[in-house]
Amino acid sequence: MINPLLRGFKAAVRPSDRRLPWQWMEDHVLVDNTSSMSGNWRSDNSPWVKEIAEVAADNRVRRVTVKCSAQSAKTQTIMGILCWAIAEDPGPAMWVMASKDDAKDLFKDRIDPTFRACKPVSDLLLDTEGLTYRFASMPLYFVGAGSPSKLQSKPIRWLFLDEVRNYPKGALDTVLKRTRSFWNSRQFIISTPDMEGDTVDRSFKEGDQRTFHFPCPACGQLQPLKMEQLRWDTNEATKPAGEWNFDALAETIRYQCVACVHVIRDTPVDRRTIARTGRFIRMNPNAPRSNVSFTWNALLPHWVTWRSLVEEFLLAQAAARTGDLSPLKAFVNESLGESWRDQLGEIDDFDNLAGCMEDYDFGDPWPDERARFMAADKQESGGEHYWWVVRAFGPFGKSRLLGYGRCNTFAELEEIRKTYNVPNTNAILDSGFKAREVYRFCAATGWKAFKGDDAPFFLLHEPVPGKPGQMRTVRRIWRYTYVDPHFGTAQAGKFRPIKLFQFANDPTKDMLAEYIGRLVGEFSIPGHKRIGRDYLKQLTAERREETKDARGRLRFVWKRVRKDNHLWDCELMILVAAVVTKVVATQGPSSMSQPSKPASNGSAEDSPKN
Ligand SMILES: [Zn+2]
Repeated sequence: MINPLLRGFKAAVRPSDRRLPWQWMEDHVLVDNTSSMSGNWRSDNSPWVKEIAEVAADNRVRRVTVKCSAQSAKTQTIMGILCWAIAEDPGPAMWVMASKDDAKDLFKDRIDPTFRACKPVSDLLLDTEGLTYRFASMPLYFVGAGSPSKLQSKPIRWLFLDEVRNYPKGALDTVLKRTRSFWNSRQFIISTPDMEGDTVDRSFKEGDQRTFHFPCPACGQLQPLKMEQLRWDTNEATKPAGEWNFDALAETIRYQCVACVHVIRDTPVDRRTIARTGRFIRMNPNAPRSNVSFTWNALLPHWVTWRSLVEEFLLAQAAARTGDLSPLKAFVNESLGESWRDQLGEIDDFDNLAGCMEDYDFGDPWPDERARFMAADKQESGGEHYWWVVRAFGPFGKSRLLGYGRCNTFAELEEIRKTYNVPNTNAILDSGFKAREVYRFCAATGWKAFKGDDAPFFLLHEPVPGKPGQMRTVRRIWRYTYVDPHFGTAQAGKFRPIKLFQFANDPTKDMLAEYIGRLVGEFSIPGHKRIGRDYLKQLTAERREETKDARGRLRFVWKRVRKDNHLWDCELMILVAAVVTKVVATQGPSSMSQPSKPASNGSAEDSPKN
């Protein structure tokens, strides 16, 4: 047994290794057996982390923020840097995990085996006590961010803040404040992102924002590696009968160069080439030299297939359509390595609507027009009256507001419909109020009765296309039932029932917000200042707010922030009608006007509650 003091003395006088930290790591660090790439740590498996290790050895740098996708060699990298620091550039170190249990697991499963397998580090190890290591060169503490007393005012040279997004609220600030630092201290903030504007995101933005770029193998154009450049085919083979066939889809997935449309396939060789030839570009070159930040996404590590990303994205998109946004947020955070921005909730001012103003005026002809709809919302307060909207649709989800206004009687509504040449089958009346009157008007004129519903979606049984006799259950944001326009009166049962279209409020509002925000299609209103403040105010009368449901899933709910939202309701019903008639991308077969047996969950006979 060597005298520990002697060991410390030897450590102090040994000349330090001048190689770059990642070169040192290749010689001395073994990958622990939680990875499929065990054996010596090799920089060519994750070449992008070399720069992080180099920055770790730069005394001008105080803070390094890494905001990136999950499973991209983060923890392995910090462990390697830590080994190097213990052996080559020692100073008191602290590794903070979200909780003490996380710290314990990491310690037992990964840190301890890595330290014991790294000779320069194990040679310096004196002893361990709980979650603290004593090395001849320095102490190293593992703590949970939830135990602030452990974070008290220790002088720390190396501070590793791991998966910061899981820290208890306020814990990161506490750590940063309470850690006394050395002149050459270095803080690492390493996390998959969460919300835009949170601590991780702010710290990344304050840094120099080094973003992974790679040169096109064909034309040499340096470009960020981005999900937007992934292409796949949507056709009968990849999406038969409206359902993705992921095996067929995978065959068509490719990355397209932004400059020359050269195509890169999802093969290990091509993927490794991207990683090897790529480099980080500073997107914020004016940041102070002391503040470095990195970002990359899951398109980079070759062990994450592009196919798995596309699948995850398509499934998340489908879930978002039914109102559950959690998978989409997880995809953005954990696969794209980007902070989540509640972009749909932002139509709370007129700016968004200003983006919808197009160079046309009410009454202008529109050669692209394919269908037009009118919707009206019945109001009682201040005397019976109706708000109405007429909107035309063209190809690719384009639409134009043709007119809107207020009138006082059913007769006037019919006049307006005729003036605007809207077919009666495309005219919609909200039946949420005085339903019987609405039904009778619809029965007499051919208008359609619509009603919002608080259900998140409807489950419908429908035949499987191409497979006679087989049924499947699908989720849809609308359905119809039949109602008796004379229910509750002596006339009940004497006349033909009419269709009542029901739509799921929140998901259809999300969809309308997507159109207004122009994430989909082109929702247009006329420029030339012809649009009144009443339209603008009513179209921004509802706002989306984030909540968690009982199962902890992230959901958005719509709240009314202004009293009058009738034109918003009209636009909503028109969009639902456009979906029902397949004028815009539809979620299932049907039509508003063709008489057909309702494809519902056996509740076609149910009377709607009124
Ligand atoms: Zn190219």
